[in-house]
Amino acid sequence: MKQLHGESRLPPGLRDTENKTMGSIRALKGTRDILPDEIAYWQWVEAKARQSFKLSGYSEIRTPIFEDTALFSRGIGEATDVVGKEMYTFEDKGNRSTTLRPENTAGVVRAYIQNGLASKGGVQRLWYTGPMFRYEQPQGGRQRQFNQLGAEVLGSKDPRADAEVIAIAQDLLKGIGLTNLTMDLNSVGDKTDRAAYREALVAYLTPYQDELDADSQDRLTRNPLRILDSKNERTQEIVVDAPNLQDHLSSESKAFFEQVQQALTDLGISYQLNPRLVRGLDYYTHTAFEIQSSDLGAQATVCGGGRYDGLIEQLGGPATPAVGWAMGMERLMILLKELREAPLVEMDFYVVSRGEAAQAQALKIAQSLRRQGFGADLDLSGSAFGKQFKRADRSGAVACIILGDSEAENNSLQLKWLKSGEQEERPQASFLQNIEALRQQIEQARSA
Ligand code: ATP
Ligand code: MG
Repeated sequence: MKQLHGESRLPPGLRDTENKTMGSIRALKGTRDILPDEIAYWQWVEAKARQSFKLSGYSEIRTPIFEDTALFSRGIGEATDVVGKEMYTFEDKGNRSTTLRPENTAGVVRAYIQNGLASKGGVQRLWYTGPMFRYEQPQGGRQRQFNQLGAEVLGSKDPRADAEVIAIAQDLLKGIGLTNLTMDLNSVGDKTDRAAYREALVAYLTPYQDELDADSQDRLTRNPLRILDSKNERTQEIVVDAPNLQDHLSSESKAFFEQVQQALTDLGISYQLNPRLVRGLDYYTHTAFEIQSSDLGAQATVCGGGRYDGLIEQLGGPATPAVGWAMGMERLMILLKELREAPLVEMDFYVVSRGEAAQAQALKIAQSLRRQGFGADLDLSGSAFGKQFKRADRSGAVACIILGDSEAENNSLQLKWLKSGEQEERPQASFLQNIEALRQQIEQARSA
């Protein structure tokens, strides 16, 4: 009872600590751990991405995970699902409304404006990766904390920029080995086109108002374009005969869209036009696209993006055209795991030892190897040689270094090549004298 009294003095939210220390604490709903078994997939994809961005002249940018709530409500739009329903928003101890980023384009744009990247002139090509947060119902490929990889090109109105970012996304997905990909493409026009279309769409839908699903009824005044991609059956029937966005594009918007399509065709990238593709975020103009995989279930979209020429100005920066995309890393991993075994972690040496003197020498040898740039895994178990050898075989190492009492006494070591089983004794003192020769031996043994 005493404890209960003590606990009731705690601020709300901390009161159940007693409970939590009694049972084990679990990760929150919609979050998950990425464990060592799985991490090789992530690192492999990240390395591929890093390489392809490097080849394309994109620089990495890292922005904060939490931002002023206004950045998202102003940038993404109050009427979107992301802002209206899905944000992790809280007041910090200084009463600032703070939000865990639900996406990263707004953050990148804020950084671009705040740090004067615009004044550097020219085109800024940026990429990022990291966790995003949305309060959604978790299911396969949908989490509350998830990771995105994204690319943004700021400062170019050239349709080749649209084609370039799309090509990078496509090549990356193909480079990872994914097949069965399709891409939907649309143009949502500029602000004026959209305003005209919005009016026509609302005029068409209003007589059907009572037949629309509840979400769409709500969107009719707030965000009518989103009704186009409602999943509700009756709403879809109604929408079939709705006015077409393409008929409301100005001739400039149409010409721009044609140039984007031509550039994609020139690059050999296939797509299907989908006039109902509008995307969830308000800031898109002109090009909108989504890449889906038929190997995923309900959450089939791996990558989505488009042009957002109005966003930078809307957030207080100079009028700057921009285009980009974001990819869902968890969905990529689901596909990748179907496709291949976890990429093996490469290791050069596995060091086993037994006996006090030998163990001390083994530690020194392992660390010297690492200092010379070799991978060295030191067995710390102290178990019998037999068990250590088994672990050496499973480690993925090319060679095993063995130190027992007699090696310790002679200041030597046994070097065993794990593939061939050949073993040789070497003096410890000269083992690391010819680094290049040792490196070559490792490479030869690995590719043998
Ligand atoms: P969806 O229609 O699946 O909700 P979205 O339109 O909300 O997607 P975007 O904001 O375009 O998604 O984000 C780009 C990509 O990020 C998505 O295509 C998807 O791969 C991934 N993604 C979005 N939300 C989640 C989530 N909650 N969990 C995992 N991945 C997500
Ligand atoms: Mg969503």
